[in-house]
Amino acid sequence: MPLTAPDTIVAVTTAPGRGGVGVVRLSGPDARRIAGALIGDRALTPRTAHFARFRDGQGQLIDEGLVLWFPGPGSFTGEDVVELQGHGGPVILDTLVAACVHHGARPALAGEFSQRAFLNDKMDLTQAEAIADLIDAGTRESARAALGSLQGAFSREVNTLVEQLIQLRIYVEAAIDFPEEEIDFLSEGGVADDLTDLIAQAGTVLDSARQGRLIREGLTLVIAGKPNAGKSSLMNALAGHEAAIVTEVAGTTRDVLREAIQLDGLPLNLIDTAGLRESPDRVEQEGIRRAYDEIRKADRLLVVVDSQETDVDLTDLATLLPRSQQELDHLDLPVTRVLNKADLSGLPAGPRPSPADTFALSAATGEGLEALRDHLKTVAGYQGTGQSRFSARRRHITALEQALAALEKGRQQLYQHAAGELLAEDLRAAQQALEEITGAFTADDLLGRIFSSFCIGK
Ligand code: GDP
Ligand code: ZN
Repeated sequence: MPLTAPDTIVAVTTAPGRGGVGVVRLSGPDARRIAGALIGDRALTPRTAHFARFRDGQGQLIDEGLVLWFPGPGSFTGEDVVELQGHGGPVILDTLVAACVHHGARPALAGEFSQRAFLNDKMDLTQAEAIADLIDAGTRESARAALGSLQGAFSREVNTLVEQLIQLRIYVEAAIDFPEEEIDFLSEGGVADDLTDLIAQAGTVLDSARQGRLIREGLTLVIAGKPNAGKSSLMNALAGHEAAIVTEVAGTTRDVLREAIQLDGLPLNLIDTAGLRESPDRVEQEGIRRAYDEIRKADRLLVVVDSQETDVDLTDLATLLPRSQQELDHLDLPVTRVLNKADLSGLPAGPRPSPADTFALSAATGEGLEALRDHLKTVAGYQGTGQSRFSARRRHITALEQALAALEKGRQQLYQHAAGELLAEDLRAAQQALEEITGAFTADDLLGRIFSSFCIGK
């Protein structure tokens, strides 16, 4: 809970631009009073739409629309919330916000409504993050996974792990504090079994989280190769297989062409290297340097070769790339080779025995394309549609990995008959890592639980 009484915040909550309707949201102790100042003092029934005229600080009419009042704590943020639905034009909405500020509201910071919802225990951290993921989702699959997180699927799994961990900690801490009771948990076996179970369960959650992150971030492929090898044709062929939901990818510069498509629900971010060329021009060199910065972060390099070319050494990446793209050879990205134009060369379409990860296909006819698509899903570790129950982010994966490492370390201590304090410390670290995921970590909370369990037992 916040230490100081919160002020009342206001912001336009609908997307920027023009639309039929735009919504201004107020949250905080003065939300109802400020709304009253705009619409004239009148009764509002909670959670009921009322028609109203909105006026500015000077009493000038701004717009007319609907008012909705959600008294706290039964609101999104847990505070008093009022939503003003006006016409969706930027001038009208900005004027409405200015009128609210005139009557004492403060413009909200980015994410501040969700932050308040978290602080008021309306949702945990993964749920707050899931709202952003749901809005940003570029595929139906990632939207579905984000909704799973929002509805608490991820938090529930983490909380189940935490509950079991707490039981184990209570037992271990009790044994440390009361050695005269001769609870020899080290040799008893029960603790070791519980710990092994917990490690297996945490591993399962980590797998799901990795899938959830893959669904959210997708596989990023750099497509390279000599001019006319068929790079653009291959990108189109990959995109054209199913109705692609093309999204704008953040960080796009004019030097790197990015296209976002999907392979059966797996987001595929394609980076075209067409813009990579040798140039004496300083500005262009800067653009190329930025392009390489993007490319370095990719997951895989897809090199397209015209299979009619016979004098190439497929094991020597440098010979497959034009001079201007030689730099790609030094990035150490895993490589998939595509021998394109199989329809012209007569090469049988499909995977090649060697070198590994080589596929003959025709971007023009689509022959052999399916094998490449399957290969890309495999290397990404994608399990297919409907397999991810929740969305996840890098920080969740990191926290789960830390928790698992601490649990593994604890198990080692146990087997090496180390002091119980060392095991207790590892379990504490594991719990802290897990609770960082949901944002629930507080030391006092745990101490209280341990203490009350002592009272019952003694
Ligand atoms: P890029 O320069 O590597 O992007 O190559 P493009 O995709 O622009 O293709 C170069 C030319 O090859 C175009 O005329 C394409 O129509 C043609 N092409 C690309 N892939 C194939 C293929 O698999 N079969 C045939 N027959 N032509 C292809
Ligand atoms: Zn091209």
